[in-house]
Amino acid sequence: MDSQPLADKTDKPTLATLFARALRLRCPACGQTKLFRNRLSMYDRCEACGRKFDRAPGYLLGSIYFNYGITALLVIVFFFSMFLSQAMSGKALLIVLSLFILLFPIWFFRYARAMWIAFDEKFDPWPNEQEAREMAKNKQRPEA
Ligand SMILES: [Zn+2]
Repeated sequence: MDSQPLADKTDKPTLATLFARALRLRCPACGQTKLFRNRLSMYDRCEACGRKFDRAPGYLLGSIYFNYGITALLVIVFFFSMFLSQAMSGKALLIVLSLFILLFPIWFFRYARAMWIAFDEKFDPWPNEQEAREMAKNKQRPEA
């Protein structure tokens, strides 16, 4: 599914494909290379298709929506399932959920970024007009 030719820009990945690539922490455009060098540091661009991962200053802040939203959703589901089933005392539930909201977003950080980049790829595929102009302008330089 991810072995499309590099030059073929007409095939836009579906939302399901983009989501699957995000869960695998892969380039949303081609799915061939990793987004992250290690736990915290990202590659600048995809080596296979050239897709820039951090498109503009502040661009990656959008991943906070995914991180916060999914954390809050999981807390709500877990809280009500434990509260209604009375499987945990109120104090134990508070401790478990407090630890969860501190640790889960740290672990989920890379996936939230990958989801944000995939979401962006769906609605503003790389390169957009401005990026294409800049790429054409910088074509002489090897590292644009
Ligand atoms: Zn790529």
